[in-house]
Amino acid sequence: MTASPRIPGRRFLQSPGPSPVPDEVLHAMARQPMDMGDPRVDETIAACEAGLRRLLHTETADVFFYATNGHGAWEVAVENLLPPGAAVLIPGTGHFSESWAVQTEALGRRVVRTPWHPGWPINLDDVAQALRDDAAREIVAVFAVHTDTASGITSDMAALRAAIDATGHPALLVVDAVASAGCTRVAMHELRADVVLGASQKGLMTPPGVGWLAVDAQAAAVAARNPAPRFYWDWRLRQSPLSYRKFCGTPPQTLMAGLATAFGLIELEGAEEVFARHRRLSRAVQAAVGVWAEGGALGFFAQDPASRSVSVTSISVPEGTDVDALRAVARNRFGVALAGGLGPLQGKAFRIGHLGDSNAATILGCLGAVQAALQVQGIPIGQGALQRAVDSLVDGD
Ligand SMILES: *Cc1c(COP(=O)(O)O)cnc(C)c1O
Repeated sequence: MTASPRIPGRRFLQSPGPSPVPDEVLHAMARQPMDMGDPRVDETIAACEAGLRRLLHTETADVFFYATNGHGAWEVAVENLLPPGAAVLIPGTGHFSESWAVQTEALGRRVVRTPWHPGWPINLDDVAQALRDDAAREIVAVFAVHTDTASGITSDMAALRAAIDATGHPALLVVDAVASAGCTRVAMHELRADVVLGASQKGLMTPPGVGWLAVDAQAAAVAARNPAPRFYWDWRLRQSPLSYRKFCGTPPQTLMAGLATAFGLIELEGAEEVFARHRRLSRAVQAAVGVWAEGGALGFFAQDPASRSVSVTSISVPEGTDVDALRAVARNRFGVALAGGLGPLQGKAFRIGHLGDSNAATILGCLGAVQAALQVQGIPIGQGALQRAVDSLVDGD
């Protein structure tokens, strides 16, 4: 294997996860492991629990951290909530809803899907219809992806909850906030979400390796009645004051130290300001993409501007575009790592992540580099995109 060339200066990681890690978080992780009797282990974990509860606006939910990633957190929800053969409703949002559905089926549960409408958020009429059709009440839960990182689209979870309630169906609501927590408001009880799950490496600005879930009393009661065999993921076994039990073994201390610091950074800036910053930066990106699109080649994958996420923008490219070549030029020549299209969007889109530890300078640098890469690749773009992004940042709230 040949080593990749070193790229001087700061490389920009504009992928929607893993996202850039702040220096404070890196420094917090530069430490020796601690023995399990060291009180700092418990303190670190307690700081993460408190930080997550504050971020999700809950005092009462149980919170669980796992040495895993987002897929592991999905599996936690499946194994705890769904008896073997039970059914779950997964509204179509694109790549991530489908991946969760495939994983759920592989674990021996049934999945009712509502269709994915490419370019659009979750269709609430489809969800209501699927729940009304479930006269036998076999659907235990609705597993909903808040921000689908492949499409760059955020679905309205409050509206989804209202649509579920309007049918009178008792299904739990499980929200995948992997790409939205720390980027936009996810207030668990306000949404009446029964479970919210996520991971460390997106809006929470920590390297990959920790998955988490917040679980309300209804969901805990459903899990307590579930006879499915389970161990590592089992919420009941992790209900303990002992750190070793909470993690079913040695906690990923180093990552938890980083995560505790990341929660501290969010609180120092103020969660509302963090969300406002995400709105400002995403608007600047969208302003630039809107101008590029005037060249006739590029476009927003998300059709409704209101559903465009504050975390990531998915940009569609014309048939025949070599997205990997575009990404290689952006990375190797201009120092910016972009994401490609995922699943059905592979080869049809590229994505700019703007979540987590970003500011106006990094976003403007990223947009300049992307524009340079588009130009090198001969992709036609409208002129004046960077000025429009600057204007958006200058005029923004
Ligand atoms: C990234 C992501 C996942 C999967 O997380 P991994 O840590 O890669 O397993 C799940 N859901 C959403 C919305 C994501 O963005």
